[in-house]
Amino acid sequence: MNLEKSSNAFIEANKYIPGGVNSPVRAFKAVTIDPLFISRGKGSKIYDIDGNEYVDYVGSWGPLILGHCHPEVVKALKDMAERGTSFGAPTEIETEMAKLICDAVPSVEMVRMVNSGTEATMSALRLARAYTGREIIVKFIGNYHGHSDSLLVKAGSGALTHGIPDSPGVPVDIVKNTITARYNDIADLKNIFDTHGDNIAAVIIEPVAGNMGVVPSSEEFMEALRNITKEYGSLLIMDEVMTGFRLSYHGAQSLYKVDPDITCFAKIIGGGLPVGAYGGKRKIMENVSPMGAVYQAGTLSGNPLAMAAGVTTLRILKEHPEIYQSIEDKSRRLEEGFRDNASKLGIDIQINRVGSMLCLYFTKDKVSDFDSAVTSDTVKFAKYFEAMLKEGIYLSPSQFESIFISNAHTDEDIEKTITANYNAMKTLL
Ligand code: PMP
Repeated sequence: MNLEKSSNAFIEANKYIPGGVNSPVRAFKAVTIDPLFISRGKGSKIYDIDGNEYVDYVGSWGPLILGHCHPEVVKALKDMAERGTSFGAPTEIETEMAKLICDAVPSVEMVRMVNSGTEATMSALRLARAYTGREIIVKFIGNYHGHSDSLLVKAGSGALTHGIPDSPGVPVDIVKNTITARYNDIADLKNIFDTHGDNIAAVIIEPVAGNMGVVPSSEEFMEALRNITKEYGSLLIMDEVMTGFRLSYHGAQSLYKVDPDITCFAKIIGGGLPVGAYGGKRKIMENVSPMGAVYQAGTLSGNPLAMAAGVTTLRILKEHPEIYQSIEDKSRRLEEGFRDNASKLGIDIQINRVGSMLCLYFTKDKVSDFDSAVTSDTVKFAKYFEAMLKEGIYLSPSQFESIFISNAHTDEDIEKTITANYNAMKTLL
């Protein structure tokens, strides 16, 4: 596999862009080869600037549930671009987007568009703090909610850890109001509420965590979380940036039958363009400016191009509910193929999969939280990743990410990937 042009492009990029990339995980730090520079994508495939073709399981980290360059999405973008790219004034398509989200997700009665998942969660926290008049936020170890100060907090080793910033530049004074809790651990949650419950503004959770591989919350845990937040008058913020419109058209919250106060979206609702959104109960959302006093704004929020791509994507998903079953079938086949391969080769793996989110861990322990996720052998993963790339399969270059199956993946892609997985795992023996 010739990657010369990508390697040269990376050298050039490094001269002007920190680390050569505009988001850290793209730098392939966890593996030994340089990142690929992509020239185009179509359906389930991407092509690098050296002309290599790959079956893409990153899908822009989640948004591309319909694959690259879906013809209707491309057409909607072209049509909109000819009418204008941004007005900074209301457009009807923003209402259409809001209606689609509110109709799809019953807990969301009003919704505000922003430009990224980070903005969505950051704004949701401000709203929760203003609404409750409290300052403490609880987040779970191993959950990622973007890079705003309050949420960039690493776990300590204790059961209850007051925030330690994950990054220099995050003021300790801000993260002292963030408490980290253990995912899927009801006792830990109860302990935290026993001590701090009356001061907790909100708990934010990824219902299926996609940022420590793939780790679903248990139904009992989700139920306990909803009950305890209600009991103490704290808000439950569901971060569906990754799971929203992916695990179901009605969100992961419909699978768990849980009714959160605020939900954050991004990724799929932008159809591959920069978007985020936060929405929830009317009585809470009414506090957002200019209706209420909680300030939050954006020059490009509700951008017409982003709305065109997003609305088209959501409409297709709404009109073709069979897409979810089809993606589930392909994802299950992939999981089964990987499991068969591992057992034939005698390699210890764990596969966590919920719908079209899947992670293969190199560990024999069941993965149900951060501590168990990090038992995976990341050196093995790096070798596996590179072997898969040579087989023409583009995975996320880190163990602790999900891969995403899209509706554009064909049965042939899936079979090719299963064969590649066998060959790649064989190199680990
Ligand atoms: N929340 C979750 C669950 C995410 O997975 C991500 C990004 N992967 C974010 C928030 C942040 O979104 P963005 O990168 O669009 O800021």
